[in-house]
Amino acid sequence: MSLFIAVRVDPERCRAGQPCTACIGVCPVTIFEGRDGLAGVIGENEDECILCDLCLARCPTDAIAIHKLYADEIRTGAGVQGSAK
Ligand code: SF4
Ligand code: SF4
Repeated sequence: MSLFIAVRVDPERCRAGQPCTACIGVCPVTIFEGRDGLAGVIGENEDECILCDLCLARCPTDAIAIHKLYADEIRTGAGVQGSAK
């Protein structure tokens, strides 16, 4: 269970219509792994996320959301939502 960062992959969007391993390959701290044909989040690594946004930039279906739990901020490929700017 992470304390600071929660990374989520929407299974309805992940790899929709195409094979993809972009987030698994690009993340510098190994947040993602292949799981049941989709990208899964390695829970014990979530707090290692350095908020580089590379996965958000590379995901072709905007399936990833990164929630900064300490700031109530959610980062997606579409931008940043929440109190912290
Ligand atoms: S980059 Fe997006 S579509 Fe590709 S495996 Fe990761 S979450 Fe799924
Ligand atoms: S923002 Fe960077 S460190 Fe965090 S999950 Fe995405 S690629 Fe990995």
